[in-house]
Amino acid sequence: MSALRRPTPVPSSDAPDVAALTETERARILAKAALFAPPAAVCEDGRTDLVGLTREEITQILVDIGEKPFRTKQIWHWIYHQGATDFRQMTSIAKPLQEKLAERFVIGRPQPVTVQTSEDETRKFLFRFRDGQEAETVYIPDRREDRGAVCISSQVGCTLSCTFCHTGTQKLVRNLGAAEIVGQFMAARDSYNEWPSPKGDTPRLLSTIVLMGMGEPLYNYENVAKAMRIVMDGEGIALSRRRITLSTSGVVPLMDRCGDELGINLAVSLHAVRDDLRDQIVPLNRKYPIAEVLAACRRYPAASNARRITFEYIMLRGINDSEADARELVRLIRDIPAKVNLIPFNPWPGSDYRPSTRDQQNRFAQIVMDAGFASPIRTPRGRDILAACGQLKTVSERLRAAEREKQTDA
Ligand code: SAH
Ligand code: SF4
Repeated sequence: MSALRRPTPVPSSDAPDVAALTETERARILAKAALFAPPAAVCEDGRTDLVGLTREEITQILVDIGEKPFRTKQIWHWIYHQGATDFRQMTSIAKPLQEKLAERFVIGRPQPVTVQTSEDETRKFLFRFRDGQEAETVYIPDRREDRGAVCISSQVGCTLSCTFCHTGTQKLVRNLGAAEIVGQFMAARDSYNEWPSPKGDTPRLLSTIVLMGMGEPLYNYENVAKAMRIVMDGEGIALSRRRITLSTSGVVPLMDRCGDELGINLAVSLHAVRDDLRDQIVPLNRKYPIAEVLAACRRYPAASNARRITFEYIMLRGINDSEADARELVRLIRDIPAKVNLIPFNPWPGSDYRPSTRDQQNRFAQIVMDAGFASPIRTPRGRDILAACGQLKTVSERLRAAEREKQTDA
């Protein structure tokens, strides 16, 4: 079986030199950005969604309607600490002002279209956003503790086409906005009645965030960063940066920004130890090869023995799972504070890889452990509801595809 199954357009540039662009190039880039942009904060009925705005932005629109800036703190508390979705719930605000706010603003939430709970308690949500687009969010309980992680999507679809990934078979439809990213976490909290937010770092059931759902979060960096700043704000959801992990396929320049600006934990989807193989299975490697990705990991500010970089390594039978691969892996990462998550390949309809055998996974893990790295083999979660890693793809996309096929047949 060839590892390369789909030719992949690698995005041409992350940060073009704006000054050097011609007018036509500018227009093309702006048009493309508009195409993938999330819906604006102003809804069809003219009201503005307050979720996803910074404190400064909220203050500005309150001042614009003649209100005092201190209201921001009150409203912020109701939205992000109490989980209010209606201005009438804001009892510390006088009725006439509640009404004035309700006439002009909304507190938006993505709508759950389906909610499935797996045999192992994993819960998958399909959320619909204001423009009808949909994305999946998964709550993964921790088996040992009474808490778990919310796996959040950052894009509808993905521009990258890693050959083993189900999401990668769906072209990028658009980026999710900050409101939609933070909204997934808030709507998952609604489902578990987990409001109000705990103060400080007190754990709850929904106590960590992993940006490992649909999409490449670093190709939607601005919206992801804005959402994570809201999540980390101490007067609201108040999750510490230590409780947030962003997974990337290796967008090097933005790994640096993420480390400097957000300081959240980093997971890197490595999956191969040689450029020729990684070029094929993670095509972004042609732009940012292994050596550059690892150099970015070495300079990642949040990397320390207390907060290690996680390397994700998918176990594909006969492709990347030999003992020589394991030895090369530990050689490559020997000077990085790291742990290695071995992920057995999760099959999806139409995929032609097979997961490595249990024996091979164990042999691989042993070599990595002997070199001093924690090397857990991830137990697939929520397989019965297609919620495991790489299986996230919207139901509606499947329905649309089936619909298209029917039309072609007719
Ligand atoms: N785009 C980001 C984050 C989303 S993918 C990234 O690639 O890191 C989250 C993780 O799931 C990545 O490590 C990805 O490589 C892995 N993954 C994708 N498809 C998978 C599959 N079929 N089986 C197991 N893991 C998969
Ligand atoms: Fe995109 Fe990550 Fe899937 Fe690759 S593994 S196609 S980067 S979502």
